[in-house]
Amino acid sequence: SLSDRLGGVFDRLRGRGALSEADVREAMREVRVALLEADVALPVARSFVDKVTEQAVGQQVIRSVTPGQQVVKIVHDGLVEMLGSDAVDLNLDVTPPAVVMMVGLQGSGKTTTTAKIAKRLTEKGRKKVMMASLDVARPAAQEQLRVLGEQTGVATLPIVVGQQPVDIARRALQAAKLQGFDVVMLDTAGRLHVDAQLMEEMKAVARVAEPDETLLVVDALTGQDAVNVARSFSDQVELSGVVLTRMDGDARGGAALSMRAVTGRPIKFVGVGEKLDALDTFDPRRVAGRILGMGDVVSLVEKAAETMEQDAAERLAAKMSKGQFDMEDLRSQLRQMRNMGGIGALASMIPGLAKAKAAMANNGPDDRLLLRMEAMVGSMTPKERAKPDILNAKRKIRIAKGSGTTVQDVNRLLKMHQEMSTAMKKLRKMGGMKALMGLMG
Ligand code: GDP
Ligand code: MG
Repeated sequence: SLSDRLGGVFDRLRGRGALSEADVREAMREVRVALLEADVALPVARSFVDKVTEQAVGQQVIRSVTPGQQVVKIVHDGLVEMLGSDAVDLNLDVTPPAVVMMVGLQGSGKTTTTAKIAKRLTEKGRKKVMMASLDVARPAAQEQLRVLGEQTGVATLPIVVGQQPVDIARRALQAAKLQGFDVVMLDTAGRLHVDAQLMEEMKAVARVAEPDETLLVVDALTGQDAVNVARSFSDQVELSGVVLTRMDGDARGGAALSMRAVTGRPIKFVGVGEKLDALDTFDPRRVAGRILGMGDVVSLVEKAAETMEQDAAERLAAKMSKGQFDMEDLRSQLRQMRNMGGIGALASMIPGLAKAKAAMANNGPDDRLLLRMEAMVGSMTPKERAKPDILNAKRKIRIAKGSGTTVQDVNRLLKMHQEMSTAMKKLRKMGGMKALMGLMG
């Protein structure tokens, strides 16, 4: 697995320091191979790796896991973010009938998925749904949808032999309006390859039907070609989402990342079998895990991060009890908090942090706040970090400029540091580290 492969790259790093740029770059070569093996298209893999490299460099190594595992977690989180963290529903909140158009290559699973979605909307969404096949290219295509309609109890537009796709679309919309359907699903014809005629037909249908949802259906086994398929379709029609079929097979799911990257649209459903209820909403965490081909690494690292929290707390307590806590320590605390996913548990242990957070709350999520604080410390000279007392107005302006913040922000950071120092002195009088640990527990 990827995490085994990264083991070799990182063994010597175990238990010390931060992830260096050279080490991360070496690891990312393995990550890139893993992505390509999972069928992520090359340009997509490349740009993803660049992005994640930036995030990984400088992260503190968690003592109880290997750096390789830690990188897997970072890559995993990056994948989840890129795949889209939240499931996105169909947007059918329009004046009925809402029009859903299915597009894609022949054999990708359009007709099956049309029936699956229609069934789901009927049963779970309690919508009145009509399906219409615009596939006049394949002789049995319209009949296929009619049979699926019978199996699922979903209405289908009666077949009129000899009618062209655009006319069928018009008739479907009219019928749906007259008969009070909530949703019309248009199942278009595919071709074996992207060709001009197919695209023209699809565009003509889109002009007539003005779909509220245009879903690109893609076989998850589409490898390097996924980028071309996605680009051709999204160049021609405005897609609103992607459906990835055949995820029940051996597919590693790399096509999901390629589709998302090229179309910029969310993956809305995943087909997981031939049966008509074999349709899942998209779960980015599961697909990310599958792309990386790893077992439990993510939860292992999450557990280890909890342990690190404990380590960090002990180190912080030790520093405080000795009466030493400079801006450098503050910065490493901020960084650790950010790596652990936010202010979370340590916030209650750091006097003044909650207040600073409240004062700067309009500046976005925890993560950004911590980054800004880190940036401020980063803009200080080593001397300023060791002796924040020397910070005069001129120096503060320089720091604010250097970190893209304001002098008020710098003052708040200093105040927070001040409060931490004061608390530390008090704690020393109360019995030092033991007392602090007691407070934390
Ligand atoms: P279309 O040409 O795009 O309309 O594709 P079809 O809907 O006719 O599907 C082609 C074949 O793929 C059929 O045999 C389907 O049963 C099968 N199929 C569609 N979706 C899935 C899926 O998610 N998993 C599996 N295993 N087979 C699927
Ligand atoms: Mg079909």
